[in-house]
Amino acid sequence: MKTVDNYNFQGKKALVRVDFNVPLDANFNITDDTRIRAALPTINKILADGGAVILMSHLGRPKDIPEDKFSLKHIVNHLSKELGKSVAFADDCIGAIAKDAAKNLNPGDVLLLENLRFHKQETAGTESFAQELASLGDVYVNDAFGTAHRAHASTTIVAKFFPNDKVFGYVMANELASIDKVLTCSEKPLTAIMGGAKVSGKILIIENLLDKINNLIIGGGMAYTFVKAQGGNVGGSLVEEDKLDIALKIVSEAKAKGVNIYIPVDTIIADKFANDANNKTVDIKNIPSGWMGLDIGPETEKIYAEVIANSKTILWNGPMGVFEMENFEHGTKAVAEAIVAATKKGAYSLIGGGDSVAAINKYHFGNDVSYVSTGGGALLEYIESGSLPGVDAIGK
Ligand code: AMP
Repeated sequence: MKTVDNYNFQGKKALVRVDFNVPLDANFNITDDTRIRAALPTINKILADGGAVILMSHLGRPKDIPEDKFSLKHIVNHLSKELGKSVAFADDCIGAIAKDAAKNLNPGDVLLLENLRFHKQETAGTESFAQELASLGDVYVNDAFGTAHRAHASTTIVAKFFPNDKVFGYVMANELASIDKVLTCSEKPLTAIMGGAKVSGKILIIENLLDKINNLIIGGGMAYTFVKAQGGNVGGSLVEEDKLDIALKIVSEAKAKGVNIYIPVDTIIADKFANDANNKTVDIKNIPSGWMGLDIGPETEKIYAEVIANSKTILWNGPMGVFEMENFEHGTKAVAEAIVAATKKGAYSLIGGGDSVAAINKYHFGNDVSYVSTGGGALLEYIESGSLPGVDAIGK
């Protein structure tokens, strides 16, 4: 894999696609700067070589035209502080404004371009727009894993204008190495823990994983579709009636492939979808009507913790219950704790996909697992299909 480590940036202007799509509050303060901090090593490597850096990113979902609240100018001060040098800003990512700003860069300078998505050609992947971006730099660096599953102008199309000068940044390289470590895992048993709201979003991933894993742990809202498919009464729990057959197919495929599949045995039920609902623990196959399952129960926690403790490689996607509500977070927290304990004993653990990352962060376990992925959709698509447009455009 060609990374910034394999390229000498001395005297070059590097066009770097980063993911600065950070959350801002009403006063445009950055409420979580993880993505900015993640990009610093790549930027600093280029500067240390004696190169100049042209940063491009999207922010939010503007409607293809400039909108002040989505301007990347709001992050210039923060980025300057993090880098320890002042960052120049161009009010547009293409045209004379961008060209002039890029032309005047000296080695050691950093320029941030305005939001790429102020032009609809970005998400459309328009070649002429990508060519205009490409004209600003001598070498292309992609460090935006979070958008690598999109064939946008700045993430994919632009790469064709740098046939010999395109490399991955450290964020990309680390993400890919971490997923590849799990998917081509030699350290078995490999356990996938799948939770979250619905089976429908996860079917392809689960089917693809069945050839690789030893254990499949099911939790979260999707568990009730499996339980109902197997003849249980799930009361008012979340169920995808049109996915009952697929749930049964996953169970039988898992058995045929020698994968141990774990479905919850008990559950914490509630009489309404609220933290202050009445709740009790019951056998997951006997949920009374008028009640819904919102978390895995203590018996299930014990079984899952033991499987996780005996695993050498762990992939976790999706919470075990409605962990946003205090009374239904216990199962998710127990699984997170089991993963942390297994990691301490030497297992490799990858946490990926929006809500399991939110859960790991809620319990401050970010530094106690092996890797927390920054790209939800990109990670899942990479597991599903084994490739991403932004990765293929540079070539692994
Ligand atoms: P996903 O985006 O598919 O990973 O789903 C994450 C969401 O699933 C979280 O907001 C959880 O609150 C929700 N969730 C987890 N377990 C349940 C459940 N038993 N019933 C309803 N929603 C759930």
